[in-house]
Amino acid sequence: MVTDKEREDYSTERKEIFKKRKEFGDKLVKDFPELFIYKDDLRKSLMQYGAECQPGWFPMIYELTKKVSDIAKRDKTETQVVQIKEKFGGLRYYINSGTYDILKLVGKYEDKSYKICEVCGKPGKIDESKHWLRTLCAKHTKERIR
Ligand SMILES: [Zn+2]
Repeated sequence: MVTDKEREDYSTERKEIFKKRKEFGDKLVKDFPELFIYKDDLRKSLMQYGAECQPGWFPMIYELTKKVSDIAKRDKTETQVVQIKEKFGGLRYYINSGTYDILKLVGKYEDKSYKICEVCGKPGKIDESKHWLRTLCAKHTKERIR
């Protein structure tokens, strides 16, 4: 049974997460404008919603984005990140185009996300106990209410 208190905490927590997502998304756009300003119009990209996952993955996403930016500069290729989100417990990092090295790197980080708790960033694994698949550490699997 989920209590009213738990429901209320969940709602407050969601609001906090949305705020953090937006802040993190804004930081990515600020630090790597060439990857996110979609032909000078951010509205054409889905990054207006920020990174659509929980903060545990932010460091990994930032690291990936830095590497994508470096390779794109090195290879003189125009790559743009269209959307970053969680799906079926794993990271999805959508780009509109990229060299083989960039695609390989993105694939490597998407695989890596299945071993990192999306909530706190500690080692985790996929949790199938509830309706949604999520990658979580032992603590967050236990505390999970939905
Ligand atoms: Zn965790």
